[in-house]
Amino acid sequence: MADSLDVIGADVRACRLCKLCETRTVGVPGEGSPHSEIMFIGEGPGFHEDQQGRPFVGAAGQLLTEMLQVIGPKRSQVFITNVVRFRPSGNRDPLPDELAACDAYTQRQIAVLQPKLIVTLGRYSMARFVGTGPMRDLHGRTREWNGITCLAMYHPAAILRTPTAEMRRIYADDFRKIPPLLDEARKKHAAQEAALAAASANDQQLDQLPLF
Ligand code: URA
Repeated sequence: MADSLDVIGADVRACRLCKLCETRTVGVPGEGSPHSEIMFIGEGPGFHEDQQGRPFVGAAGQLLTEMLQVIGPKRSQVFITNVVRFRPSGNRDPLPDELAACDAYTQRQIAVLQPKLIVTLGRYSMARFVGTGPMRDLHGRTREWNGITCLAMYHPAAILRTPTAEMRRIYADDFRKIPPLLDEARKKHAAQEAALAAASANDQQLDQLPLF
């Protein structure tokens, strides 16, 4: 059976790959459009997400939804997931073995969605896709990861913890980088497709040449 977001969702809900399955209420595979060109990757479900099985439904999610409105797409038009899909009890940080186990689901979601832009929310997803270092230095920076542009951003909960006008401005400025980055990624993708089509046409012509 071909992989799909629904199949991955069912696998996540039944997952027993790490100890988080012993304390979670329900799994939170991620949600959004299967046609999304952008994938937001946060840290892990909190209390409300663990109850409802949906990512970013608490206060941090409200800020994420608000910030999306600044740049255009509705929440339902993007795809939102986390680096771990079961709630670490007491909202503790995810452990390396939990991150490693859940990465298989992240990779499957990326393979199905083929996003043009990955936006990391917080230090754990930033470490996976952009790099390690202080968030104050790396937020707003991009890195190419397996041909996908990845943009590092603060976790919305970090902005809620430091609710100054300056932090809000920094966050909005980082969000405003998304549309031009997506445009650039679309152009790069179109150029790659054109190069592939040209190479394949060339191969066909060579196949038709007589050998002698
Ligand atoms: N924080 C996260 O990182 N993810 C959620 O889904 C909710 C809060």
